[in-house]
Amino acid sequence: MKRIALSLMLLVTTLMGCQPAPQAEKEAAQAEPAQTYQWKLVTSWPKNFPGLGMAPERFAEKVNAMSGGRLTITVYGAGDLVPAFEVFDAVSQGTAEMGHSAAYYWKGKTAAAQLFTSIPFGMNAQEMNGWLNYGGGMALWREVYAPFGIIPMVGGNTGVQMGGWFNKEINGIEDLKGLKMRLPGLGGEVLSRIGGVPVTLPGRELFTALQTGAIDATEWVGPYNDLAFGLHKAAKFYYYPGWHEPGTTLEFLLNKAAFESLPEDLQAIVETAAQAVNQDMLDEYTTRNIAALDSLVNEHGVELRRWPDDVIEALRAANDEVMAEEVAKDPLMRKVYDNYRAYQEGVWRYHSLSEEAYNEIRQ
Ligand code: CA
Repeated sequence: MKRIALSLMLLVTTLMGCQPAPQAEKEAAQAEPAQTYQWKLVTSWPKNFPGLGMAPERFAEKVNAMSGGRLTITVYGAGDLVPAFEVFDAVSQGTAEMGHSAAYYWKGKTAAAQLFTSIPFGMNAQEMNGWLNYGGGMALWREVYAPFGIIPMVGGNTGVQMGGWFNKEINGIEDLKGLKMRLPGLGGEVLSRIGGVPVTLPGRELFTALQTGAIDATEWVGPYNDLAFGLHKAAKFYYYPGWHEPGTTLEFLLNKAAFESLPEDLQAIVETAAQAVNQDMLDEYTTRNIAALDSLVNEHGVELRRWPDDVIEALRAANDEVMAEEVAKDPLMRKVYDNYRAYQEGVWRYHSLSEEAYNEIRQ
């Protein structure tokens, strides 16, 4: 009997706990303003730049909407708060709570960072997303950025990029010797290996550098972004495909302390908005590149050229050498690269008889 009475009491207490709060308590809860957060987000792109620069803008809009204004984010273009290539330091030091950039710009901080954007002859967008989100890639990325107090999140993908803009035709490997080309990351190392001169420049400087002859050639992204920069006005030959960046992943960088100071629901909103923007960018590039390529060829007289097979073979061989040397220098880079390669080989076994096989039969 006693037990039953106790159970009944517990039940009543529990039920009472579920009752709406008394009016006074309710009003007190409403009067207490929810804590709000105002963050700065610095980027490596011109403000509102099509594609790349819209990702942080859309991210900020989504976070604002989903959080009901509890987390508001101000986006700064390259040079507005910090220069394009100081985004990593700004987030690490807490000058800004967030950044939007590309991990391969930080190879001077940690060599393994290069593997999270895109590597020559590496994985495409679909494969990168698979590796990062389900194949262990993101855990490794977090490990690589942890010493800097930064948490990385996916921030978009351009798809396979174009090979770049040249003032002359590239008919053989000798045409790349002495060629001064804007080509960041490992692609630049590969170019250097076969006698070219790689240069790293932020996007906003490319047109002037190419037009004045400060550089002989440049890659940037693909038709949509390249048209926006007017690169076709400075060079005529447009090479494909972008062997150096086959599935360029952009990144959000989060100051770890700032992220961890958020309540769990806002953390979830940030992560969900990053994933949404990651897919959104790929979808937008896929669509807008179609019209941009048509415009470049039909309205601006751009000459499309496919890389000659022997040039690709030479670049691939140079890339094998560069990667072997790079991973030998840095144990963390080896650890990430081994994981990357294992995933790439696995996904190739499947994609060679799914995606690739399908692409062949539909042509
Ligand atoms: Ca590029």
